[in-house]
Amino acid sequence: MDINNTAHFPPASIDRIDFLEGINVDVLRLDKIHPIISGNKWFKLKYNLFAASEVQKTSILSFGGAYSNHLHALAYAGKLFNLKTIGIVRGEEVENPTLQDCKEWGMELHFVSREEYKEKDTEPYKQKVMETFGEPFIIPEGGDSDFGIMGCKEILKDVDSKAYDLICAPIGRGTTFLGLLTSTTTSCLGFSSLKNDRSLEQILSQLPSLGHWKMNYDFDFGGFGQHTDELLEFMSSFKAQYQIELDKVYTAKMFKGIQNLYENGEFESIQNLLIIHTGGLQGNRSLASFY
Ligand SMILES: *Cc1c(COP(=O)(O)O)cnc(C)c1O
Repeated sequence: MDINNTAHFPPASIDRIDFLEGINVDVLRLDKIHPIISGNKWFKLKYNLFAASEVQKTSILSFGGAYSNHLHALAYAGKLFNLKTIGIVRGEEVENPTLQDCKEWGMELHFVSREEYKEKDTEPYKQKVMETFGEPFIIPEGGDSDFGIMGCKEILKDVDSKAYDLICAPIGRGTTFLGLLTSTTTSCLGFSSLKNDRSLEQILSQLPSLGHWKMNYDFDFGGFGQHTDELLEFMSSFKAQYQIELDKVYTAKMFKGIQNLYENGEFESIQNLLIIHTGGLQGNRSLASFY
């Protein structure tokens, strides 16, 4: 498939759910844009892949943890667009459904120690990687680059964002949130899934033209990749009630956070709320015993 022909990715649908009494709650289903390359990871990859194709690179290298939604999406995109993909995975070699898929779709996996992984964004390390793997196009972890932001500006492309008083989105590194903020004038509220990570807030405070944001740090449920039984129970009842599956790393924490803030009366001025479902459901397979 030609990389420039992405017309087969339909605009994300919007579901109205009866989640918060008295508020029109719409969910933008990025989880449904593609059966595999789902969610915000497609938006983050898109212009990275275009850039690679422009400089005629046919092999792409990137980084991630063993359950990485990003590597998973990249591996499938590689298969779809006929690109060789290389994944540098943090930590000792393991097997799980995420990495199994990556391998099946042709991604070459290399496991590196946590110490080595920390070096991944340094120039000497990138040089070494370029030499070792035959000059691939390097995409930073998570697709978090200016190309990633460029893609995330398209998340609201087919949405009348002015019709909402507030847009909620989960935050990891913040690329998605930056893309959203720069593409709408509606206030945006981000829910961090990392413990006490203020790095996005620091970036935003230096961009005075982007003042229409708020950040919440109260719903990390133990930090990145961590969860509690309460969170899993919430996911399960949410799915039963609204037929929408959430992921345990990002979207479940955000939805639970929204519910709590609402119950504390913090959404009293809100009539129309848009919530971005960023996908990431493949990672739930590690909860097989739960579902
Ligand atoms: C990666 C990811 C995020 C976080 O995106 P950032 O751009 O890093 O903030 C949110 N939700 C899901 C499902 C993800 O996979």
